[in-house]
Amino acid sequence: MRPYSGERLCERCFCQSIETKVRATISKYNMFNHDDRIVVAVSGGKDSITLLHILAKIEKDFANAPLSAVTVDEGIKGYRDEALEIAEENCHQLGVEHLKVSFREMYGLEMDQIAKKIQQKEEKGLTPCSYCGVLRRKALNTEAREAGADKLATAHTLDDETQTMILNIIHGDPLRIARVKPVLPVIHPKLVQRVKPLCEVPEREAAFCAYLRKIEFQGIPCPYAGAALRNDARDMLNRMERKHAGTKYTIFRSMEKLRSSLATPTEQELGECEVCQEPTGGEVCRACQMLEELQDL
Ligand code: SF4
Ligand code: ZN
Repeated sequence: MRPYSGERLCERCFCQSIETKVRATISKYNMFNHDDRIVVAVSGGKDSITLLHILAKIEKDFANAPLSAVTVDEGIKGYRDEALEIAEENCHQLGVEHLKVSFREMYGLEMDQIAKKIQQKEEKGLTPCSYCGVLRRKALNTEAREAGADKLATAHTLDDETQTMILNIIHGDPLRIARVKPVLPVIHPKLVQRVKPLCEVPEREAAFCAYLRKIEFQGIPCPYAGAALRNDARDMLNRMERKHAGTKYTIFRSMEKLRSSLATPTEQELGECEVCQEPTGGEVCRACQMLEELQDL
């Protein structure tokens, strides 16, 4: 039973309901045009693998909307190598082109090396995830753009979106809530538009659907995940959801209302990074600044 809605569904109807939810989200936010070239970011985890399977099914209805997948290999031994194989296998089964990009080839450094280098800085709040997030976003955008993508679909779930809202408040930056959207605006020609078709699907349901359909996904967590503040936001929201079913949806709807009533922050004018020529609000992009800092450690 779904505690937040009271629905009782058999296995088949449960999975069908997830697909229906995703289709409704795509349509509600006008995520895709009928001829978009779509690249889906697939890490190999439950959310992205579920999204890949659903989009591969939906794509069959749109002959002019080709779908590819991209996986970023951050260089995390014993974790990402297994996820890469799982992503590859799922793409192969679905007949979806699988693109790969690695931190090593893009930045000349792997996450394991970065994590070692920043150990001494941890007391200042810098975690491996702070670096990984920035570098992965850049890698995904570059790879998707080079593949000619019109849309880059990411597997952010209802949980990710509500955690981000809480984190924005914890970081003292509530106006950012207006910028966290299911479809991000295109603010520079070199940025591929990002869309989040799973933003109204709870993470547990995405995982359960993959489990019921016997879809293989990576179950072990990243060895660096424990250090992130996001984990505390996740635990808090999960506790509230267990006690007060529907909390995450209520927060998501509140975000939607806030977004429309918050003065829309003027989108920052982006130029190009002096080092890598990728879009940035400053002279040097955050990824290049981080790589420069790492040289000095
Ligand atoms: Fe990167 Fe952190 Fe995710 Fe691990 S948990 S893949 S370090 S962002
Ligand atoms: Zn740069």
